[in-house]
Amino acid sequence: MKRATTTKVCFPWAPLGPLWLKIFVMLLLTFAVASTIACAKGISSSAATAKSESPPTMPPPPEAAAPDNAPLPHIDSKRAFQYTREVTAFGPRYMGSENHKKLEHYIVDHLKGDQVEDDAFTADTVEGKFPVRNIIVKFPGTKDGIIVILGHYDTVYPLRNSGFVGANDGGSSTAILLEYANQLRGGGAGKKRDGYSVWLVWTDGEEAVRQWTNTDSVYGARHLAEKWEKDGTLKKIKALMVMDMIGDADLDIVRDTKGAPWLLDLIYAAAERGGYQSHFYAQQGPIEDDHVPFVNRGVPCADVIDLDYGYNNVFWHSPQDTMDKLSSKSLEIVGDTILETIHMLDQR
Ligand SMILES: [Zn+2]
Repeated sequence: MKRATTTKVCFPWAPLGPLWLKIFVMLLLTFAVASTIACAKGISSSAATAKSESPPTMPPPPEAAAPDNAPLPHIDSKRAFQYTREVTAFGPRYMGSENHKKLEHYIVDHLKGDQVEDDAFTADTVEGKFPVRNIIVKFPGTKDGIIVILGHYDTVYPLRNSGFVGANDGGSSTAILLEYANQLRGGGAGKKRDGYSVWLVWTDGEEAVRQWTNTDSVYGARHLAEKWEKDGTLKKIKALMVMDMIGDADLDIVRDTKGAPWLLDLIYAAAERGGYQSHFYAQQGPIEDDHVPFVNRGVPCADVIDLDYGYNNVFWHSPQDTMDKLSSKSLEIVGDTILETIHMLDQR
């Protein structure tokens, strides 16, 4: 039963309890879908009535993409999928564990020759003290400004003895960042990319150690946001995107209403370029994730997350979060879309 009280990670409503949370989420999503349908109906039948009666809940139309004739970027999705498999094969990778340590080495081993930095500290939690380590790799660009991509690599501490291996939740985010590094490395050591600097951050301690609250969650991201606020880095960030649970074979990225609308629209426009838009924003709602400490400090953020993992999200924080639920195609959809988003940001 402990699991039942510790599974709420990505939402702010954990204190309400799992049942209420589910009902609340269902209501929200139903409302979003229903209002979308209502608006769509209004266009063809009685637009005037729809206008006066329907609240303006439809997401604004995506920002028109600048004409872009550059070839679409492509990740190597088979390689990204293989990374996910290897990361998952370590087993549970919760903070402070041996497997976590092994994964740290695995990540750093894939960044040989790159500009790697650590943001390491000790987190004081309700379950005791834990070593926390954000791993940062920097790809400098010719333009003044930074695009940051975060993805957590820890798995759920309260599920450490349940057989939970987090193929999607922890595995896919770790893997896609490794593949982004391959794509961004490009020109070789010392050569700047043509655009903004891109920093990838494997965040640690995203998961709550007991139950999701403002203080029991996103340990690594909170530390990093505070540090970057102090040293002036935050002011240079043009956009920050979080990758989380993006491997689900039935890919359905939610439109996170905590995100910056213009950035969400840009991601949608990038998805459209690849013909991937049907996998984006059919649902919307506020999401709690690694971006929150940055949102709270005024950084333009977007959480790229699929929280519809299995029927009624049953695979989420469950021992069923395994490789057979994932697809390399989903990594490709998200990977290509985010690389294209970076490209579009570079043009701005
Ligand atoms: Zn999680």
